[in-house]
Amino acid sequence: MDFVLKGHIVYNESPLKLHTSYGYLVCVDGVSRGFFDALPNEFSKLPVMDYGDRLILPGLVDLHVHAPQYSFQGIGFDLELLDWLETHTFPEEAKFDDSRYADVAYDFFVKDLVEGGTTRACIYATIHKESTLALMDKLEASGLVTMVGKVNMDRNSPDNLCEASAAESLLKTREWLETALEKYQHTYPIITPRFAPSCTDELMQGLGLLVQEYREKAVRKLAVQSHLSENPSEIEWVKALCPGTECYGDAYDRFGLFGKSVDGEPVPTVMAHCVYSADKEEDLLLANDVTIAHCPGSNLNLSSGIAPIRRFLKRGIKVALGSDVAGGTSTSMFRVMSDAIQVSKMYWRLINQEDAHLSVPEALYLATIGGGSFFGKVGSLAEGYEFDCIVVDDLAWRTPKPMNVIERLERIIYRADAAQVKAKFVRGVQVK
Ligand SMILES: [Zn+2]
Repeated sequence: MDFVLKGHIVYNESPLKLHTSYGYLVCVDGVSRGFFDALPNEFSKLPVMDYGDRLILPGLVDLHVHAPQYSFQGIGFDLELLDWLETHTFPEEAKFDDSRYADVAYDFFVKDLVEGGTTRACIYATIHKESTLALMDKLEASGLVTMVGKVNMDRNSPDNLCEASAAESLLKTREWLETALEKYQHTYPIITPRFAPSCTDELMQGLGLLVQEYREKAVRKLAVQSHLSENPSEIEWVKALCPGTECYGDAYDRFGLFGKSVDGEPVPTVMAHCVYSADKEEDLLLANDVTIAHCPGSNLNLSSGIAPIRRFLKRGIKVALGSDVAGGTSTSMFRVMSDAIQVSKMYWRLINQEDAHLSVPEALYLATIGGGSFFGKVGSLAEGYEFDCIVVDDLAWRTPKPMNVIERLERIIYRADAAQVKAKFVRGVQVK
């Protein structure tokens, strides 16, 4: 359906520059036709949805979130990553072998995602093919555009969350891919080795070859997602497990799972965290055009550290944001934005005064164009972008003080979980 939204239009013209105006935003065939102070004649017959004094923002993109972990968000944060995985995460994820449990849990997750500001996401499921497809069914029905991974794990995992062999894991992955590529319009499979410690070389190699093989077959190129340099103990472990690698990223790169296939073709790749990516790894991230999913809340909760986002941005490395539920405690991308700004302030104050903290416009940029670019021409309200947007309602926050739109945006970001998303559109379809 073609239509027009009316309200305060806000989006990033650049990382530092916000556009704000009051007027009409036009959607034709799922794509923005731009915005106007007065509605041009050619669009005058389109229905207008008038959102009054509310803010219209680009849809928010969560480039790293674990759907099965939604059920225990906010638990276990006296532990660091590896102990947290063993104590809380793996036992919970093992339950997703049971389709009834998965059905209930994934319902809660998807409904929450639809309620909030997220329009697109890169999502981890579990190793289980059937429940991963059940999650994808729900996401497809929600109208959100997502990439979803059946997770691969064939070593260093508990018996009830470990695939029997690399061959078994690859076979299940192939079956899942075939079904998913055939079945869904806007729920895309993404190759998801959990992280280097839980995947044998044989499995990683097989996944790299699968990416190559499906390059021609797939409706779109298969992307890859995984974890990278999140925690010091994890990094030491990878060094011991993957002899001969020059850095953690190399453990993926040598199998064609780090931005480039083994035969040298681009592979869209997102790596979460990069708290401790040393120089060599930064060079590789840049050279292979890998996107970093910065997950500041999760990095705080699990005492992981602070990723040097300003340094990455200065070098031209691609950065997006991730809630990393359940390392993070909320699927709200406003919350992730304020976390990103806040940890960057502590990084600047305590670690490196050369690296200025992130500003409000930059945080919005990372949550919109930063993550949106992983999906194509996504993340802006300007003409030609896919029409993803949210209408945010802060009118109930009573104050006698007049505020301009940029002040209201800042307040929405910092008050995060209190922000009300009144309406949401993805590719021109209203999903809320
Ligand atoms: Zn994660």
